[in-house]
Amino acid sequence: MTHIITSLCVRDRGCIEVCPVECMIAGQPLEEWPWIYIDPDTCIDCGACVPECPYSAIFPEDEVPSAYTAKGGESIAQVGLTGHFEAVNHHGNPIVLDITRQLEAGEVLDFTPDIKPHYDFFKTGPGYSAKDVDDGR
Ligand code: SF4
Ligand code: SF4
Repeated sequence: MTHIITSLCVRDRGCIEVCPVECMIAGQPLEEWPWIYIDPDTCIDCGACVPECPYSAIFPEDEVPSAYTAKGGESIAQVGLTGHFEAVNHHGNPIVLDITRQLEAGEVLDFTPDIKPHYDFFKTGPGYSAKDVDDGR
């Protein structure tokens, strides 16, 4: 199994450094690969990244919510969205994303489609080479 980062990821980058097997890679280009991606073949399911995420975006693969009820106000990042999001990341650097949408309280979302992109990212997408062009965003 593996852990999965869902669309609730807004690239705070708080999770990456704690991974003991360094299998969390920031997607690049951002507009195509908006989240941090976990290599399913390398993740050892230690769970260390889960409490580091201030946005509660990380789940074990078999616990990714298929009916997530929004609290209201949280943002999701997905290819094709156009909403603007700004915050300060784990390192005190600005986060600016223009591929987001703010959720309304009570909205129900299926995050299971977020599983496949993790496999795709490492099989047919940029994978670990994204580290070479990581601009810190
Ligand atoms: S800490 Fe959460 S929001 Fe930040 S990059 Fe990791 S998964 Fe995404
Ligand atoms: S569960 Fe552990 S090994 Fe897997 S991505 Fe998170 S920190 Fe890394």
